Amino acid sequence: MSEPDILVLGSGMAALGASHELAQHGLRARLFDKNAYPGGHTATFVHDTGFVFDDGPHISFTKSERLQTLFAENVGGAFETLDAYVNNYYRGTWVKHPAQVNLHNLPPELKLQCVLDFLDASKVPEQERPENYLDWLIAAFGETFAREFPAVYGTKYHTVPPEKMSTVWMGPRLYRPSVEEVLRGAMFEETPDVHYVSHFRYPTTGGFMSYLTPFLEKCDLTLDHKVVAIDPVGKIVSFANGRTEPYDRLISSIPLPTLIPMIDGAPEAVREAAAQLACTTCVTVNIGLPRNDVSRATWSYVYDEDIVFTRLNFPHNMSPGTCPPGCGSIQAECYFSPKYKPLDMPAEALIQPVIDDLVRIGLLQKDEKILHTDARVIPYANVIFDLDRETALPVVHDYLDSLGIIYVGRFGEWGYHWTDEAFISGEEGAKRALGLAG
Ligand SMILES: Cc1cc2nc3c(=O)[nH]c(=O)nc-3n(C[C@H](O)[C@H](O)[C@H](O)COP(=O)(O)OP(=O)(O)OC[C@H]3O[C@@H](n4cnc5c(N)ncnc54)[C@H](O)[C@@H]3O)c2cc1C
Repeated sequence: MSEPDILVLGSGMAALGASHELAQHGLRARLFDKNAYPGGHTATFVHDTGFVFDDGPHISFTKSERLQTLFAENVGGAFETLDAYVNNYYRGTWVKHPAQVNLHNLPPELKLQCVLDFLDASKVPEQERPENYLDWLIAAFGETFAREFPAVYGTKYHTVPPEKMSTVWMGPRLYRPSVEEVLRGAMFEETPDVHYVSHFRYPTTGGFMSYLTPFLEKCDLTLDHKVVAIDPVGKIVSFANGRTEPYDRLISSIPLPTLIPMIDGAPEAVREAAAQLACTTCVTVNIGLPRNDVSRATWSYVYDEDIVFTRLNFPHNMSPGTCPPGCGSIQAECYFSPKYKPLDMPAEALIQPVIDDLVRIGLLQKDEKILHTDARVIPYANVIFDLDRETALPVVHDYLDSLGIIYVGRFGEWGYHWTDEAFISGEEGAKRALGLAG
């Protein structure tokens, strides 16, 4: 029997996971991507100024030993292993992360209310999963902390208030710190480190994309090929430049709201469901500095609603190889979404507001020398788990299943996948294409 002709759409973690799996079975996958560069979200941009920025901060904290080994081999063992230091900026104060067990620097009355409400919340036994994210936060953390911290941050990050979000993306149980942890954090400056990422890996040179580059040698990748139509009956993919490609099996990592309208004959109900799926748009503003003492943090969460960025990361603290010698850098993430908070300006218009707010929170000096600035739009950043997702997603997935189109990755499965999960999703998709999995 001849080998199936498997076409893979995309060239990010999921598509490369699929092609890696196909290579294990002796098949060389054909990948097509709309971009002029490979890697999707995990692409890295090396600028003439000598500064290197990922398309949004990317670190590897996979627990899979298999993937740890695979990625380590891909960079010839040249990666940094670092402890993450994370902090929060809250109304003029820097608070160690997680804020709830580091309340020490906060105003006394706020601290007291956070502790009292937490004690009340801890008396309530964990029952059924709360229906919306705000109720989940209040049950886990207590009313004051929940409303003052994660609810505010979550609204900035997801662009939608927590009462309009589901809880399916949360772990199976509430995360509650112990009473002792909360009390110690309120009383003492020094606290033990507690975070969901305690240490991580990052390539020494070339940014996160270095982990993926060797995968590109094991597939046939065609760039600058934007898919515009899919004929699921004739099994033909059409590209914007007029080229067409037949397939036996199709694996797609293209975001579902983009994919569905391309499919010939997609029913109106499925199109409407796909249009309901919400995702944030992230604008990253990248800044290069002639100094590397800007912050000791790996990344920082910023709560204030009137500060334009939601999160900051400091690439030189991930690897000095991301900057010219002695230099440092900041990447700011600003969030929008077509459904809830449309981006109504060019990305570059955010550079000066980001610089002004970095001065305001004390990370930059007024008028200090800056060696590099650029801004990029990530149209699909984080899936928003709003209440519409729960009804819309099965409609879309059932339809794709009925056509035999295999959807993979963060934007095919439409989940909160990290890089390793997107890669594994691609591997699983390839197994299904080969008839090796259900
Ligand atoms: C700001 C941010 C920070 C993150 N930080 C981390 C982190 O620190 N660690 C971590 O593990 N994960 C992180 N993630 C998650 C990680 O980026 C994703 O899990 C992963 O990159 C998703 O890979 P993917 O292949 O599923 O999607 P993508 O990388 O988005 O791949 C989809 C591909 O489809 C292509 N495509 C789209 N439309 C078309 C079309 N019409 N025709 C042809 N091609 C098309 C795109 O160009 C793209 O290459 C972060 C995500 C964001 C947004």
